[in-house]
Amino acid sequence: MSYVFHRMPKKTLPVAVAGDGIEIVDSAGKRYIDASGGAAVSCLGHSHRRVVDAIEQQARQLAYAHTSFFTTEAAEALAERLVVTAPAGIGHAYFVSGGSEAIEAALKLARQYFVEIGQPARKHFIARRQSYHGNTLGALAIGGNAWRREPFLPLLIEAHHVSPCYAYRDQLPSETEEAYAQRLADELEHKILGLGPDTVAAFVAETVVGATAGAVPPVRGYFRKIREVCDKYGVLLILDEVMCGMGRTGHLYACEEEGVSPDLLTIAKGLGAGYQPIGATLVSDRIYEAIVGGSGFFQHGHTYIGHATACAAALAVQRVIEEDDLLDNVKARGEQLRATLRERLGDHPHVGDIRGRGLFVGVELVLDRASKVPFDPRRKLNAGIKQEAMARGLMVYPMGGTIDGRQGDHVLLAPPFICTPNDVDCIAERLCD
Ligand code: PLP
Repeated sequence: MSYVFHRMPKKTLPVAVAGDGIEIVDSAGKRYIDASGGAAVSCLGHSHRRVVDAIEQQARQLAYAHTSFFTTEAAEALAERLVVTAPAGIGHAYFVSGGSEAIEAALKLARQYFVEIGQPARKHFIARRQSYHGNTLGALAIGGNAWRREPFLPLLIEAHHVSPCYAYRDQLPSETEEAYAQRLADELEHKILGLGPDTVAAFVAETVVGATAGAVPPVRGYFRKIREVCDKYGVLLILDEVMCGMGRTGHLYACEEEGVSPDLLTIAKGLGAGYQPIGATLVSDRIYEAIVGGSGFFQHGHTYIGHATACAAALAVQRVIEEDDLLDNVKARGEQLRATLRERLGDHPHVGDIRGRGLFVGVELVLDRASKVPFDPRRKLNAGIKQEAMARGLMVYPMGGTIDGRQGDHVLLAPPFICTPNDVDCIAERLCD
């Protein structure tokens, strides 16, 4: 009997009592390789000495100061670090406590920006199907899985959806990457024109799609074409890098590889690596200046924004990533992991696709490789995979297919950036044998 309201109360969970590098240890002493970083969070593994020391030092000195009274050295230093390394045009960081909050802030910043500049008719948000942006009401409304929204529909803001960039399923055999990207950009343009260009506030997309589809990178040139369409109609581009950002793809920001700068960029999981709950919405100069030069006040906020201990933890995490050259390791180990999985699973009759970037790796499972028909979601293949992996001492992040058959079950792997070649072999062994 547990007094915790667990999300799946009928399931009995092991009790995690310790973290040790890439492993978590339960109360029975069993060790689990954290090959998914929880949900792509624990990018430095567990109990990292330098991060723990930074948290202890900050908590001793000043754990928390409310942001309506003070700023703190930790928040200022973290914001500077993020902005200096961010894509062009980003000038400020708005801190929150997690991914959904970062998205809520981005939606409200976009809306308030248009109010400030005298375009209050801009209220529509366009996002993509097969995307996940969080579980708070705004984030849920723009999220791309209808089944998640369904029970809450009467509570949600109106949002609009276009196709994701999902080459494995949707790129036609006769289509080049460029033609496919153009078709998707045309679809967005058509949607903007249908809604009325002067009524659209922003287009929201995950740079590399995470949990809902399993580490799906865009085809080359897709985001440049999307940026062009947004610019043509004065629509803001919000990139959600809550899961794929902060080094997960081998670049600090996944959009670096796309050659585009968003107007708003959300980050969270890898920012604090699970050591403290923290996220941020990175804000372009033009949005910041419109608000500062307009009402001078962002009409939003939470008690824990800019939490000093959370900022100190995130700062330490980001310093470790830089000082230990971990982005190079992410690229090398990611290549190794994909190559090993292709070697071991490439001919498997139920493995449709092995993909991803850096240490953000997805394996899509299908009933039939030729037709790409997914398994019946009622079979709950994903739950079975998770259970079997846990029995083998391996944490992976599987997700189910959808009823409309637009995507199959998949397994998401997001091991810590500190993993060694031997760790990658162990992960592949436990998953594939
Ligand atoms: N955006 C993306 C891309 C995510 O993957 C997630 C969480 O998985 C979120 C937003 C929501 O983040 P959180 O669970 O921290 O609220």
